[in-house]
Amino acid sequence: MDLGLTGKTALVCAASKGLGRACAMALAAEGVHVTITARTPSVLEATAQDIRAAAPDVTVTTVTGDIASEEGRATALAACPAPDILVNNAGGPPRGDFRDWDEGVWMAALRANMLTPIYLIQSVVDGMIARGFGRIVNITSYSVKAPIRDLGLSNGARAGLTGFVAGLARQTVRHNVTINGLLPGPFDTDRLRQGLTSQAEIEAAITRSGQANPSGRIGRPEELGQACAFLCSAGAGFITGQNIVLDGGATGLTL
Ligand code: NAP
Repeated sequence: MDLGLTGKTALVCAASKGLGRACAMALAAEGVHVTITARTPSVLEATAQDIRAAAPDVTVTTVTGDIASEEGRATALAACPAPDILVNNAGGPPRGDFRDWDEGVWMAALRANMLTPIYLIQSVVDGMIARGFGRIVNITSYSVKAPIRDLGLSNGARAGLTGFVAGLARQTVRHNVTINGLLPGPFDTDRLRQGLTSQAEIEAAITRSGQANPSGRIGRPEELGQACAFLCSAGAGFITGQNIVLDGGATGLTL
């Protein structure tokens, strides 16, 4: 299937590892020139090399910085001022008890997972409208549909982004600019490894999570990357304002 993306440009945020990296890989495989961002330069450069090796015909540009900061956003937009595709992504906020969260904690979560995507959309959407093509994908979480008890910061910030986008996505679609959310369930990324020190612990966590899933496994990042590439495809212009859960069917399952 030709996704009709050859020669397009994409800004893929938080893309040196995990789901963002998988989106960049999948888009590059479709002939999209990608600008990828992350805070750790060595990992980012290694990922850029991997993408170049897999997709030698596309340009891969790296931007080091915190995408949740004004400076980080400005640097990313300077490197890729008029993307055809924007993939919004950043690390998720920590777990915790809302009694411990002051304004600083709330603002960090809102900045990373709600305001930064909105500011980036604000910066690029009118250019997309003028050019008659745009695809915006926000990586959020299945928690948008099924909130997670101890992840109130994530539940709140992602719900805010999702609610905002719901209205905008219906304004832009008549210009062939779509905005959709991809909502990951459990995926095999470094995020799953956080706080686990031994290989045995990691394997046990992956097995536990997989056994609890209807598919009998956890997701592979490339599966989310391919869904992202499809949502960005030329033929997906009638899909907008949707929040697509990728979780092997776990969300909403009653045992
Ligand atoms: P990951 O494997 O830990 O990768 C995170 C990537 O984002 C890295 O490249 C990291 O690089 C970059 N990054 C993080 N914060 C950044 C920032 N402020 N500015 C620029 N780059 C940043 O995580 P993941 O599993 O792909 O998760 C991606 C998103 O999906 C997160 O919001 C996560 O909460 C959400 N999610 C994931 C899952 C899952 O199972 N994986 C499930 C539900 C939701 P640097 O650290 O070098 O910046």
